[in-house]
Amino acid sequence: MKNQEIMQKDLKFNWHPCTQMKDHEFLPIIPIKKAKGVWLEDFEGNRYIDAISSWWVNILGHSNEYINKKISQQLETLEHVIFAGFTHEGAVRLGERLCRLSGFDKVFYADNGSSAVEVAIKMAFHYWKNKGQVRELFLSLKNSYHGETIGALSVGDVGLYKDTYKEILIKNITIPIPEDQSEEEAQKALKEAENIFEKHHKNISSLIIEPLVQCAGYMKMHSPLFVKGLRELCDKYNILMIADEIAVGFGRTGSMFACELAGIKPDFMCLSKGLTGGYLPLSVVLTTDDIYRAFYCDYTELKAFLHSHSYTANPLGIAAANAVLDIFEMKQWKYEEGKWYSVLERNKKLSKYIWDKVQKFKDLPNVKDIRQTGMITAVEMIDYPWQERKGLKVYEYGLKNGVLLRPLGNVIYFMPPYVIEYDEIDKMTDVAYEGIKSIEN
Ligand code: PMP
Repeated sequence: MKNQEIMQKDLKFNWHPCTQMKDHEFLPIIPIKKAKGVWLEDFEGNRYIDAISSWWVNILGHSNEYINKKISQQLETLEHVIFAGFTHEGAVRLGERLCRLSGFDKVFYADNGSSAVEVAIKMAFHYWKNKGQVRELFLSLKNSYHGETIGALSVGDVGLYKDTYKEILIKNITIPIPEDQSEEEAQKALKEAENIFEKHHKNISSLIIEPLVQCAGYMKMHSPLFVKGLRELCDKYNILMIADEIAVGFGRTGSMFACELAGIKPDFMCLSKGLTGGYLPLSVVLTTDDIYRAFYCDYTELKAFLHSHSYTANPLGIAAANAVLDIFEMKQWKYEEGKWYSVLERNKKLSKYIWDKVQKFKDLPNVKDIRQTGMITAVEMIDYPWQERKGLKVYEYGLKNGVLLRPLGNVIYFMPPYVIEYDEIDKMTDVAYEGIKSIEN
């Protein structure tokens, strides 16, 4: 099938995520034939830099030879097996590695980010119930995003996704966030947060946060001090803390996990996306022995966590995840300018390079702010009314010029796979610059 034929058939039968399908009356859907590294290629040979890692999942490049090999090997022996009553080698290996890496004691598997969030908030609620307390409130941050299933949507706060469903959501309270990455803003927000903790703590089971960067919340960023302060409040008021590192985990913010930069350990950590290098749907909730023990008793006490997904701990996804961890462990991952780099070491160089490149965006009259945390860099345009859909114009400009950008409202951002080369960063940022410039009026 050629581009045109696929486009037509696709729109006849498929309903795409997060899309007003009528937009495709003017916006062509793009059929991708193959991908390699940061490049996506359609059926006519047009190529696009995947500047958003295909929704933040692809951290080590498309068609990564090492991950390909490990998944193929797994395919030869076991594609899937029920994970209740059974286990497999990959899951044992991954469980141990994730615990060692993160300092947690137990791993609960699920199969996508939203499901991991559901698991974590249910576990937190259930923990208190097993201890004889019903705590029916959840706490989360203003402007947060944790997924689209009802529970995850309830603890989120992006009106665009949430407002329609407000009548059917579970009870949640939001606390203010810092306006920027400064320590002053963090302190101010923490003061306001404490009032809420003080008032409601007896009924709150958990606080869920996206540490350092609220990605879907227009790439808003805050200081590690804010995360640390929230951990202290959770300790003081005896509330469980969930870190949703689905988007920021696996090297996105500069260290393996964002919580490390804040020097804290939450009670639960949710991971997905980069976990499999963007190959297969898999997620995990990491937690502590203290939580685990609250569920561990004779069956007849009815305290078990009876949550399940059919594809829990799918061996192919787990093979991909083990391959991703292998790559992170490589001290000699990439040779550049006479020196070997690991993934995390090279990311530091890349972030600096991207940061230098985006300085020129400050000269554009329609740019309001630029900000960065590790491998996430955002350029915020002025407050164009949302109806003008200026971000969409930049998206279209990007596609015409070989770069897949996917703005969030008026925010253009770069979150590329870590295999990106310097000349590819040049192209990615130059095209975004010209795209923003082209919509000045
Ligand atoms: N939490 C965060 C922080 C996310 O960014 C996302 C996805 N963008 C999710 C949860 C939901 O993950 P999924 O799309 O796999 O359900």
